[in-house]
Order: sequence, then C-alpha cells, then structure tokens
Amino acid sequence: MEAALKTYFGYTGFRPYQREIIQKIMEGRDGLVVMATGSGKSMCYQIPPLVAKKTAVVVSPLLSLMQDQVMSLQQRGVKSDYLGSTQMNSSVASEAEKGLYDVLYMTPEKAISLPSRFWSNLQASGICLLAIDEAHCISEWGHDFRPEYKQLHSLRDHLVGVPFVALTATATKRVRGDIATSLNLSSPHIAIGSFDRPNLFYGVKSMQRSMSFISELVKDVSDTCTVGGSTIIYCTTIRDTEQVHEAMIAAGIKANIYHGKMGNKAREESHRSFVRDEVLVMVATIAFGMGIDKPDIRSVIHYGCPKSLESYYQESGRCGRDGLPSVCWLYYQRGDFGKADFYCSEATNATQRNAIIDSFMAAQKYCLLGTCRRKSLLQYFGEECATDCGNCDNCKSTKTERDLSKESFLLLSCIKSCGGRWGLNMPVDVLRGSRVKKLVEKNYDKLPMHARGKDYPPNWWKALGGLLIAHGYLKETANDGYRLVSVSPKGAKFLSDGGTPLFLQPTAEMIELEDHGSSQHKEGDVNPLTTVGSEKISEEEQKLYQMLLNIRTKLARDIGTAPYAICGDQTLRHFAKIRPSTGARLANIDGVNQHFISRYSGIFVQSITQLSKELNLPLDDSSGVEEMVSVSKPANSNLPVKLGGTRFTSWDLWQNQKYSFKKIAHFRRAVPIKEQTVISYILDAARDGCEMNWNRFCEETGLTPEVASQIRLAIAKVGSRDKLKPVKDELPENVTYDMIKAFFTIDDLGMSEKAFGNIPTDGARRAESPNPCSHESEAVENGGKGDSVIVAGVCDSSPTTKRSHTDVAPAPADEPVKKLQKTDNGSQGDSVIIAGACDSSPSKKRSHTDVTPAPADEPVKKLQKTEEQGTGSTSGAVATEEAILELAESRGGVSLEDAVKHFSGSKRESVVALLESLQCNFAVYEKHGRFLVL
Ligand SMILES: [Zn+2]
Repeated sequence: MEAALKTYFGYTGFRPYQREIIQKIMEGRDGLVVMATGSGKSMCYQIPPLVAKKTAVVVSPLLSLMQDQVMSLQQRGVKSDYLGSTQMNSSVASEAEKGLYDVLYMTPEKAISLPSRFWSNLQASGICLLAIDEAHCISEWGHDFRPEYKQLHSLRDHLVGVPFVALTATATKRVRGDIATSLNLSSPHIAIGSFDRPNLFYGVKSMQRSMSFISELVKDVSDTCTVGGSTIIYCTTIRDTEQVHEAMIAAGIKANIYHGKMGNKAREESHRSFVRDEVLVMVATIAFGMGIDKPDIRSVIHYGCPKSLESYYQESGRCGRDGLPSVCWLYYQRGDFGKADFYCSEATNATQRNAIIDSFMAAQKYCLLGTCRRKSLLQYFGEECATDCGNCDNCKSTKTERDLSKESFLLLSCIKSCGGRWGLNMPVDVLRGSRVKKLVEKNYDKLPMHARGKDYPPNWWKALGGLLIAHGYLKETANDGYRLVSVSPKGAKFLSDGGTPLFLQPTAEMIELEDHGSSQHKEGDVNPLTTVGSEKISEEEQKLYQMLLNIRTKLARDIGTAPYAICGDQTLRHFAKIRPSTGARLANIDGVNQHFISRYSGIFVQSITQLSKELNLPLDDSSGVEEMVSVSKPANSNLPVKLGGTRFTSWDLWQNQKYSFKKIAHFRRAVPIKEQTVISYILDAARDGCEMNWNRFCEETGLTPEVASQIRLAIAKVGSRDKLKPVKDELPENVTYDMIKAFFTIDDLGMSEKAFGNIPTDGARRAESPNPCSHESEAVENGGKGDSVIVAGVCDSSPTTKRSHTDVAPAPADEPVKKLQKTDNGSQGDSVIIAGACDSSPSKKRSHTDVTPAPADEPVKKLQKTEEQGTGSTSGAVATEEAILELAESRGGVSLEDAVKHFSGSKRESVVALLESLQCNFAVYEKHGRFLVL
C-alpha cells in the first residue's frame, strides 16, 4: 500500500483513517466513509485497484467531477477513464470490461443501464470494489437527492462478492442510515472523520451591498490572485453574481461566472478554465462546485448569508483541500436575514418550512456570533471542542468584553413587554421610538421603554439581539414560517435579578455602527487573505515559488491538463524551499510521484538550478523541510500536529546511525531543535515498538541504576506518576525530566530489569504475572464479524502524537482525529470510534491495568507491527488504557480487531472492557447519534 502511495501519489504516509479503510476494502468488506472534504476520501478507492491490480468502479454524480478526477489520475500514471453521456471514445466501454483500467468512473445513470454482460465480463477480468461517491445523493433527506442513486443496489446482483463502499462529506444520522439500507451494505466498516478543517480560517463581516463594498472585495481578491491563489465568490442571487463579476472584470481581474441560468456548455467551459487556472476567480451561485476536485483554492467568499450552515460548511470547505492555509469569509447584510421566505419556496408543508427556517436561523446565528466560529460550527455538527481555535476572526481579534447590562436590560424587557410574539423588528422599533401603525395599535408606544433606545441605530439593537440569542438570553423559534424572539429562562433570571452586570463582547458590526453610524466594511482589520501562502518562506524563495507556479501553469497548458494535476502547491513550495539539484533529491520530496519523476523532474531540476542561481539561492537546502510542515497548519492551532516522520528519523539516526542527541538536534536544520525534544522523539519511537539499545540510551541520558532507584522511590512517595512535576520535585536537582521520562518509558515497556538490573518495585506499576498470550486465534476469528472500533487520540499542541514507524511522512495538519462515534446504521456492523483527549504527558490514567499483565521481561520489539506480522506474534503486548490510547494515536485510529490483535497478551473481553472504561474516563457522551469525547 505504501509503495503504491509513493509511486502514484508521491506521499510517504497515509492520512488518518485512510489505511484502515483501504485495508477493510482489500479484505472485501463493505464500507461507509463520512469524511470532510479535503481529508483524502478518494484515495480510499484509488489505492486498492493499484495494489490488487484489479479495476475499481466509481459511481459519481457529476461528469465534470469525473473528468477532473480522470485528468488527475492520468497525470499520476494511473489508468483511468469514465463512462457517461459526454464520453466520445466508444472504445472505453469495451476496454473497461476487459479490465484495462485501474479506476473507471461512471454516472449512476450509466451504471444502472449497462448490460449485465458488461458486469460479468468485468468481474471475470477483475473488479476489486464499487465506490459510490457523494453517497448522500441516495437519500431524499440529503440536499442533493438523485433518484438514479436509489437503484444502485441492483448492481449487487451482478457483482457478487465485490465490496461496495459509500463515501460522502456530509451525512446526518438519517442520511447514513438511508445510504446503508439503500445499498444493502452488509455489516459495513464505518469510518467517520472529524468535520474540523484546521487549515481554514473562518471570518464574518457585515456589509452593505454597494459599489464601495464591492470595490474593497475586488481589492482583497486581487491580493489573493497576486500570490497565485484561486478564489470562489458565492452569491445568493444571480443578480449579485453578475454585479460582482462585472466589478472583477472592470478591475482587470480574470474572473469567470457560473449560475443556473447559463447553458450547459457555457457552464462547463467556465468550470474547465477555472480548474485549469486560466482564471483565478469564480463568481457563482451555489449551483457551482459540487464535488469540485481542485485542491488549491485559497479563498471562498460568501457574498450574502448562506441558506444553512450545512451548505455553508460544504461550500466554504471547497478551499484549502491541499491542507495549506486558506480563508473563508462570509459577508452578510442584515437584510439577508429577512430572506427565509425566499428559501421557503421549496417547502411543500409547514414542517418543511420550519425546518428551512431553522437551518437559516442557524446560519444567521453563526454570522452574529461573538465567540469562536469553528467551535460553533463543529458544535452544530455534533462535535465538541474544548478550546477556542485561534484561527477565526473572533479568536484573532482583540475585541474585549464590556458592560452591556443597561442595553441588554432594555432590549430584554422590551421583548418581554411585547409578549414574545414578534421577531426583533417590533421591539427595536419600540426602543427607537417609532410610531408605526401596528405599534400604536398594540399600545406599545405607551410602554416605559418606548423611545429609550435612540442612542443606537436599529441595526445595533438587532446585532445586540443576535448576541443575546447566541448567549442564550433570548431564544428564537420558527412558527408557521415566522421567526419569533422571546426571553429565555436565563434572560428572565437576568431581568428579575436586576442590576447583575452583564459583560459581553460586542460584535464587529456593533463596534462599526458605534464608530461610524453605518456598517461599512472597514479596512485594516484581520485580513488573512493577504498573508496566505507567504509565511515561513523568504522573499527570494517566494519569487522562486512564483516562477515555479508559472512553469507548472505553462506545462499544464501545453499538455492540456490542470496545473494541480501535475503537482500540488505544497510540493512546489517544498521545491522553492529545498531547491533540489538532482532528480533523485527531487524524488524525495513529498508529493512527487513516479509519473512526475519520469515526465517532469528534468524540467523542474533545470529550472530550479537556473532560477536559484539568478536569485542567488543555494541548492539542496534541506533545513527547510520541517518548517514547511508547520506552514500547513494554522497559527495557534490547538489540534494535534503529527510529525511521525521526525520521530522516526530521530530514532533511526540515534539507533542505527549512532548519532548523538546533539547531532540529531542539528541534523538538516537551520535552527536546531532541543535535545530534550530529540529524546522524547526517540522515547516515542520506542513506545511505538522501535528497537532500542537501552544501555546506550541510559548512558547518554545519565540514567544510572542509582538514579532509577531514586526515581522509583520518588514515585512511591508521591503515590502516583500521573504527573512528572511532583516526581521531579522529590528528586535531586541533577535528575532531569529526560531521565524521568526515559525511566517511565523503560518501566512501561517492561525493560527495567534489563536496563537497571533487579531493583525493587515499590510504587510504580509493574506487570507481574506471567501471561499465556495465546489469543491470536481468537482475534483472527473475530476479525470479520463486523464490529469495529476506531480509537483516536487528541493531544494538546505539544507534539507527543505517535505514529507507526511505517509512516515516514509528516501527515497533513488538517486531519483531526477527535471522536468517539457510534454508528447508527441498522445492520449488525456496529462501529465505535473513540478518541481520547490526553495531555502532553504519556503517563496518564494508570489505574486500569489489564487483568492479565505481561511478564516484566517481555520483549517489546514489535509492539507496533501487528498489521504486518498478523498472527505470527508471540510477544503478547498487554492492553492498558494508556497503551490503547497510544496505539490509537499512533495510527490515527484503530479497529477493535486490530486492537485485539495488537494486545495479544490480553483477552478480547479485556480490550473491550478497557475501551468501555475509556468511554467513562473521557467523558464520552452521545450527541446526534455519535459518541463524543471531551
Ligand atoms: Zn476560533
């Protein structure tokens, strides 16, 4: 698998979930994959055919999407084509049934209309899977229902024994159930990834639709264009689309337009030239973009409030699929909020109307939020995150809370006096002292608060209303298509307490209205658009990068493909940073595949050599590689940073190359890392099962048997080793944290005796009783039953996440793995995905030692290798909470079978029991049908 990944895609490591999913497909099991856009879903069905040397058939809803994917695959040397109404080459079908393609795409219409002879021939030639992409189209509850999808189950009759895999980026519990039922999935392996996209910045601004605002928008977009980034601007109406598009053209920006009133041909051409970077800006209605495969869109702007958070998440999610920092701005005008009726036209009954209004209100609430946008977005999708993201406008802005007690009191009591039977307009009119007919008829002009709110404009009051809704002092409900705002119990308490101060962070709109009396867009505040792609790369390197972008564009035009299909932006940034002087060095860079090497490495090496000379940059600067990794994650992200490659490299240099810690700290780095970091990397690798020369390690860290026994005594004194510091405090100054950490690792791995000789074991946990470790057969028997548990760990920002040493590449940072989910599909294949939040210390929660601990001198050299070694193991690793969490972290999730296999020293029941206890310890709870972990 890894070989295919590098050969065809140029990557050395899988992203979270991918390996697991591919493995299951290869085992012939059905699957349901729900993963965010950009998390590498398509890789899950593109790798198996390359490994199995059989065809993968992929059903996809859109011809344009299929064509894009085929183009990308062909550029990678993967044999691929598609069947659909626009396919002009009549030989594709006959070649397909001979099994000549690795990946064959087709529309659902085509799939259900092909004769059974086609399928039987293909099956005879070899078919390894049938993937159903954008599988939410199966469900009438999904937002893109396609009736033909409902008939796909009939293919099961033709394709007996072929695994069916459904993939989607958005699926609620109900839609997931529909997918599994409709396709007759048989105990599918279910993988549900996080909805978080850490490389995306989220921001919202209020605006007035005006030429002056549009001209500022044009300026922002042109800044993104100058750094070579593509932008999509979504407008809510065709009129807006045309107006914004005209403004872009007038400003000399190459921009395309796309909306439902254009003819098919014009739309296709617009899509095509955008995907190929012939234009960098697409101004479109939401008709554009389903399944768009372009990974390097740097910015998605919504010009107008979207109709729901689901659609906002999906549309904004089209940027930054390559993991590089990208921005999502939403510009709303308060008037947008009155447009619920516009969307309600789709509704046929009151329930549907209310559902549409509910969704729209959620989008509105998102606009008005004064707190972390990501947190609220994820909460909406049933994911909890403990901390603010640090990568949204609210997290980045320096706005501070202030006392809004008086104003809040006025608004709340006014809403209460109006009986909670209105939206915000009526109470705000009352505060502003209006005497409109309806108001006077209701005698609201006699209310004591009438005309008491003239200090602020109406929109300020409405923004405050939004803020009070967001903070739970007001509640908004949909009733017969109307939105009503009333005082919540929390608000009522505030009113009755009278005088309790209420500190809130005013929204940007409120501040603007106070400053200017109007809500014009302001310059000079948070605008990451201008900084996209410019971090951690010198000016000269930036120039080189731009030149390489141009070379790639020219190359793509010459051969009639999209630039991103040749290689990704990230790869070009690596070129600019490292400047490889030979094809071999270039081949080592992540993202460079076999096809690229054979076709383009000559051109790029030559250009890099020449341009670097002109720019006076040295060649083969490998110090930049690790810094480049950090470019792909947002600043201040609290999400795990996976640097598995660094760990493995450090361990390899130490263990095999016999480098010192110091030398490793400086190895290929412009700025050395700390030796302590190197030591923890190596210890992590040891925990992952890498072989260690402990004697040498102890010698180099100064961990003598005497120090070890001091540490042991200190642990006994403290009574626990959950935290390093109390233990350290009990010890003489010369005993370092490194020594303590090393001791813990050695102790956990049961290597103490080997490393320090036979010393007493007082306080620390030790594995004592012998263990029969003969449960492999049990694990294997259980392998195909359909239960599957994925456990994934989330750590705070300190990079303690461990990875298998087979994954040598740094994983993209946009792959959060926080989750505990239980699937809801009806079949017997229940799956649980767990994630633990752990602190940076690996020594957490030691109490749940397994009932059958391993012998203390158990060799541990293959802790990590269960997947490869299969049933041959006799090592008998023992399951503990910590070990399970570590295993999960290292793999970005692990199935129950794999956990059982891995911990062959423990009984299956023990592993299950431990997983269950983790659920308790990690505050697991169910929301929207998924078990989540805090
Ligand atoms: Zn945030």
